[in-house]
Amino acid sequence: MVRVFHIFKFFRKMASRDTTDQQRMEKIVSLCKRRGFIYQSGEIYGGLNGCWDYGPLGSELKKNLKDFWWKRTVRDRDDILGLDGTILTHQEVLKASGHVGGFSDPMVDCKVCKSRYRADAVPDAPCKEKLSLPKGEDKSCELTEPREFNLMFQTQMGASAGADSVAYLRPETAQTIFVQFKNVLDSSRVKLPFGIAQMGKAFRNEINPRNFTFRSREFEQMEIEYFCRPEDGMRLTDEWLEKRLDFYGEIGIPREKLHILDVPDGERAHYSKKTYDIEYEFPFGIQELEGVAYRTDYDLGKHQECSGKPMEYFDEATKEKFIPHVVEPSAGADRTVLALICEAFDEEELTNEKGKTETRTVLRFKPRMAPIKIGVFPLLKNKPDLVAKAKEIQAMLREHTTTFYDETGAIGRRYRRQDEVGTPYCVTIDFDTIGENGPEHDGTVTIRERDSMKQERVKIEDLLGYLLPKLV
Ligand code: ATP
Repeated sequence: MVRVFHIFKFFRKMASRDTTDQQRMEKIVSLCKRRGFIYQSGEIYGGLNGCWDYGPLGSELKKNLKDFWWKRTVRDRDDILGLDGTILTHQEVLKASGHVGGFSDPMVDCKVCKSRYRADAVPDAPCKEKLSLPKGEDKSCELTEPREFNLMFQTQMGASAGADSVAYLRPETAQTIFVQFKNVLDSSRVKLPFGIAQMGKAFRNEINPRNFTFRSREFEQMEIEYFCRPEDGMRLTDEWLEKRLDFYGEIGIPREKLHILDVPDGERAHYSKKTYDIEYEFPFGIQELEGVAYRTDYDLGKHQECSGKPMEYFDEATKEKFIPHVVEPSAGADRTVLALICEAFDEEELTNEKGKTETRTVLRFKPRMAPIKIGVFPLLKNKPDLVAKAKEIQAMLREHTTTFYDETGAIGRRYRRQDEVGTPYCVTIDFDTIGENGPEHDGTVTIRERDSMKQERVKIEDLLGYLLPKLV
């Protein structure tokens, strides 16, 4: 399997870059580190290229995304079942699928500065060794002919090295699904059409990891293999495209920021009869979030041929035996997290009480994706009654959702800190709450909403009923 050489996609992407977008991306990367969303892996040792760790807030965000994908894909449906396969993969699986022979990208080297690039992504920049050449001289890199570079990480199982002990870190989650197709079919007695869904890590030794987490060497996929009769493949591919676009709307990525690329003949993977790429307008260009591919019976057919084990489905009604076809919506969890952050990031100019203009940074996540759903603040930290009440309210809320308690600094600053990480609601406990300002306000708290910054007072006993429906 050779990865498709997306020359024309590359030009689409480059066309949409400008300085404001670059500055926006720099701000996003800096916010991610500063507020604990995403850190470079192994940073204190200089960083492991193409690998990223999710911090306290990033891991919550990613978990919210994966949980919601699993809910919509598996739990809300009768026709899709879950699977959680291993990362270490039998070499024969990946030989049969074509990955060992051809899961490669074309790679070129500059003979002068020794830089290495994916042949379809050579930057439009001068050679590092030719920067000092006089004006008018050719400063471009001198590239070798493209060579194929296999993207799989190979490892070894057990103590003795040898051809038989070779295993691979899976380059996609899909192959485990194909290999376990018969077991799932026999153990759950499902009928066509049905799907198997899996999310988990995949690994690709990308030649040029870039654009923050967008192209990483270790990443997570969320994949569905939806098995069907051959005559339904094309129709289901179109239907899945629509379903997946709806999903992005539900998590807060608006339809107008998504682009659909109907991948033309000659650009698709060889097993695919139809592929749609769902692309998002990242600040660094229009880039793929998910592929919806009609993979025909290619994979099950190959595994049947190479393992000698039947992969057929027996249709009780028609008494036919055949290898099902498959439609694959394959999304990247890390790319979607990045799209969520890019989409949510906003800066707005506000005039403060002293008449000065200041910038409010806010992540406008949909509440269901927000890492923290509710901030809980006592108005003052040195008033034990306020602190006790705030902790009591937090204990009540955290039974149902993610909360964050903060008692330090002015209340306005605490709101801003939560705006910056996308917390949709903050609850402030003040003297009215504990009845010190007179009985008429007794037992109410202030709820402050992130986007409008509006505040309202709600009774403690109504808090859950007021907030919880807004968080799903
Ligand atoms: P690309 O053309 O961007 O390399 P691809 O077409 O090779 O992607 P697929 O093999 O279709 O990607 O994988 C399905 C999904 O997995 C992609 O849409 C993407 O969201 C995610 N993915 C693939 N490679 C990476 C990577 N190196 N880093 C992060 N996510 C990735």
